[in-house]
Amino acid sequence: MIKNKRMLVFSAHAGDFVWRAGGTIAKYISEGAEVSLVVFSFGVRGESNDLWKAEGQTTENVKKIREKEALEAADILGLKNVEFWDFEDYPIYFDRERLDRIIVKIREFQPDIILTHDSRDAFNPDHDNTNKAVFQASVAANSAGALYDGLKSTKQMRLFGFEPHQTEISGYVPGSFVDITSTYNQKVSAMKCFQAQPHLIEYYTQRAFMRGNHARRISGVNAYKYAESFSNFFPVVGEELY
Ligand SMILES: [Zn+2]
Repeated sequence: MIKNKRMLVFSAHAGDFVWRAGGTIAKYISEGAEVSLVVFSFGVRGESNDLWKAEGQTTENVKKIREKEALEAADILGLKNVEFWDFEDYPIYFDRERLDRIIVKIREFQPDIILTHDSRDAFNPDHDNTNKAVFQASVAANSAGALYDGLKSTKQMRLFGFEPHQTEISGYVPGSFVDITSTYNQKVSAMKCFQAQPHLIEYYTQRAFMRGNHARRISGVNAYKYAESFSNFFPVVGEELY
């Protein structure tokens, strides 16, 4: 049941949440979940290549463009609660202060679900570092002995990893497929907000189509036309096998 679920998304760079989870985020919002997004870095150094082709381009201007694009994309997905923490990228790193900030965010939001990067992305160690930081922070947030100004510790939430760009060479194994047929058009519109990465739009439309095929094959539900896949940090637990 998606209604009233609390989903917290940590995106290493400004576009990642759209390419890898835009359909799922839009679906959760449209079905009554509370979704909050933290973008750690604008991706100025590593994920804005086309913008740097403009003569006289500056870091501040690239940041502005990336923020505007990410906000437009978030708006299309229905996402209102967005924070930009403006960390430098390539490389992104997480010291104790940054980990504490993530822990506080998790405790304040009290998520049922955290979406972030999978543990390995063969071409993007920023994504790996983000995975490790968010996972470490989630463990501390759940721990009663980690004290943060009286903020209540969180209950064990479910954690899911985004599909990396080149799945096989990253050792990625999908653990969950989410049908995004109802929000696929929103995802495509949101992807079109990013001027610097036009090459990714076709790639991720094809990926949604392919994962939709897999979702149908696995479930037998023919209505699943488009899907996104995620890794599961933990096995599924329930009253029955499913
Ligand atoms: Zn990224």
